[in-house]
Amino acid sequence: MAFDVTLIRGDGTGPELMEAARRVLEATGVKFNWDVQDAGVDVMEKYGTPLPDSVLESIRRTHVAYKAPITTPIGTGFRSVNVAIRKEFDQYINIRPSKSYPGVRSRYQNIDLILLRENTEDLYAGIEFEMGKPETVELISWIRGKQPKAKMYDDSGISIKPISVTGTRRFAKFGFEYARKHKRKKVTAIAKANIMKYTDGLYYQVVREVAKDYPEIQYEEMLVDNMCMQLVQKPELYDVLMLPNLYGDILSDLCAGLVGGLGVGPGANIGDNSAMFEAVHGSAPKYKGQNKVNPTALILAGMMMLDYLGEVDAARRLEKAVADVIAEGKSVTYDMKADRNDPTAVGTKEMADAIIAKLKK
Ligand code: NAD
Repeated sequence: MAFDVTLIRGDGTGPELMEAARRVLEATGVKFNWDVQDAGVDVMEKYGTPLPDSVLESIRRTHVAYKAPITTPIGTGFRSVNVAIRKEFDQYINIRPSKSYPGVRSRYQNIDLILLRENTEDLYAGIEFEMGKPETVELISWIRGKQPKAKMYDDSGISIKPISVTGTRRFAKFGFEYARKHKRKKVTAIAKANIMKYTDGLYYQVVREVAKDYPEIQYEEMLVDNMCMQLVQKPELYDVLMLPNLYGDILSDLCAGLVGGLGVGPGANIGDNSAMFEAVHGSAPKYKGQNKVNPTALILAGMMMLDYLGEVDAARRLEKAVADVIAEGKSVTYDMKADRNDPTAVGTKEMADAIIAKLKK
């Protein structure tokens, strides 16, 4: 059996990273029917958009996308392709593992965190009112009527933060199922409910309710500011972190920083009917075509995809092969060397070859 997967090559360093990652995934022995699709700045001239309809049609058919980084064109009126795909397919959960691999330079060891971020609600819902516009002025006067004590200047801009029972419940259920499947021991729900009672307070209430169905998993709640300090001081004490959209965005980069930066971090966006796997980093366009950048993040995103497809054994073998190559420190890209100008650093392609050699052993 072969899995149908939409393969999006991206732009900048995307195509060379994807070529390396695709070869590695095939070396696990799992069979794929890749539906190769182009998106990003390189196809804008041809299609008039960085996200041609054919990409969406392909994902509608395959339900699984493996995506290289894509540049977000600035000042063209186009939004991020990544956000557009997440919205189109209602991929409401973002998964970002942050794990210490021996050999990756970091001040911390023994970190194995899974950060789960709600992907659709909160201040990212896109409900904004521009300062000075008639509807904003009207809204301010309406709010003052309802909440006379609210501190609000006439020249305010307003962003609205919706957090719902529906959105939080499906997110929390997915999160606890994921924690159970991956035999995780503890879930920490993170918000700022002491200040935002009707949004973050509701969030805690719903996650707490869902947690009752998973008695084998320890559940705790933590305020987001305290969590930042705890993560910097003793990250090894945490396991699965469950956050609303904005806090999730911020803490996921913090967690990536704990284990050696964005270059090694994979991510997944998942909905009820589709999933998209990608590296956390961007298209690093200044290195385009140089066979230089690190393929680890995209390869580990491929490992998450194997896991999602039920190829758990292949996923474990792949992770071990990547970890072994990093631990040996010979066939790794410049960013993993103590000295970034180290002449023994290898290229994207050669690092992939080393991982393939480990897989074939
Ligand atoms: P970036 O992650 O592309 O690059 C920042 C720097 O990080 C690079 O200059 C490089 O030094 C380093 N880096 C990144 N990936 C690396 C790798 N695999 N190996 C070694 N070093 C690596 O961030 P940016 O420059 O802010 O963004 C470039 C473009 O990518 C922007 O248009 C941004 O919108 C887009 N972006 C896309 C995604 C995505 O597709 N999911 C994510 C983030 C940013």
